Amino acid sequence: MENPKETAFLKIDFNLKPLDEIKKLISFPNSEIKRLAVKEKHGFFYKFTFRSFFESLGKKESLLNEIYTFNSRPIPGNLSEYILLEGDESEVKIPDFKNSYFSAKEELKKRIQEKTNELSRNLSRFLEHEIKTIEEKFNNETKSFRKSLDEISEKLMEFARKGEIQKINEQKKLIDSIKKESNFSDLEKDKVRAIQLEKQKHILNIENQFEKLTVIYYPIYIFTVDVSSGALKKSFVFEFDPVSQDITGLICENCQNKSREIFMCSSGHSVCRKCFAICDSCSRGFCKKCVKNVCEICSKKICKDCAIRCFRCSRLVCKNHTRKDKVSGYSYCNNCLKKCERCGELKDPYSFKVSKKTNAEICEECFRREMQGKVLEGVFEK
Ligand SMILES: [Zn+2]
Ligand SMILES: [Zn+2]
Ligand SMILES: [Zn+2]
Ligand SMILES: [Zn+2]
Ligand SMILES: [Zn+2]
Ligand SMILES: [Zn+2]
Repeated sequence: MENPKETAFLKIDFNLKPLDEIKKLISFPNSEIKRLAVKEKHGFFYKFTFRSFFESLGKKESLLNEIYTFNSRPIPGNLSEYILLEGDESEVKIPDFKNSYFSAKEELKKRIQEKTNELSRNLSRFLEHEIKTIEEKFNNETKSFRKSLDEISEKLMEFARKGEIQKINEQKKLIDSIKKESNFSDLEKDKVRAIQLEKQKHILNIENQFEKLTVIYYPIYIFTVDVSSGALKKSFVFEFDPVSQDITGLICENCQNKSREIFMCSSGHSVCRKCFAICDSCSRGFCKKCVKNVCEICSKKICKDCAIRCFRCSRLVCKNHTRKDKVSGYSYCNNCLKKCERCGELKDPYSFKVSKKTNAEICEECFRREMQGKVLEGVFEK
């Protein structure tokens, strides 16, 4: 890779307050931003200035080309939409620009192609003309010689037909002497040399000089944001590139897509709007992975905290359709609970006992009350 004759530095002034800017671009609808900090790194454009020299027939002309690259690719335009300020060499460390250089060189080839084609076309037209002139001159100079040769060969044919060997030999001698007399082969050599020379003169020489490298840098902002949602705390680190207006690093943990709107799942996941859901039972926010259960009685979408498995039928049901038995500690769905005839409440189906008084199946609590009453009855009877 060729080194530039000159290197210059420019910086793009976006004139923006990164913290204010980012607050406009991102949001955390169901959590609170506790801390927002910013650091900077640099993004780069390069401007390659090439001067191309075209030399032919002793004439030299030059063409200046400016090629901008971004991410190692040539880009159209010239950054005129940005405010460019004088840069400071000590402020930046230039990253390796070899790939940018080679792609700029490729682009240069394309840009000078038209000029190259035009010059080459003209040159070959000139050359054709020169060659024609040389050949005409050669033909003129050898005209009389060729005429005598033609006559002799006619005679030779005739003598050959008649079989006059002696005369044939005479004519052959005549040919040799004419050849000696004329400088035919010298002229032929001169002609070849003259054409060769013209070909060399009509070659197009192109030389590209790497005049200047302009390093154009701009800030890329790296943000750290701490958010809290109830007892949940989470930190995010992401980048904002003001050139591409792109935010990288803020990703939905569910669908893996980039998102500028981050919702906090009550289980700690951060997700996009599409992947956010509310538990129909407790109304808390979750990611879709955390509210994947459906109550088998009412079909509500419920979070894992609200989904309870019935101890009797093993169905998954919401809190509204289950009851935890105070005595046994087991949870049952409404369908599996048994109604106590005495107190009218839904109770653990396995806890029913037969009343000593009525022979009916009653809940454990009612049974205990009955037994206590019996004991007390006995006390008062005495
Ligand atoms: Zn998502
Ligand atoms: Zn819930
Ligand atoms: Zn979740
Ligand atoms: Zn339910
Ligand atoms: Zn059940
Ligand atoms: Zn009861």
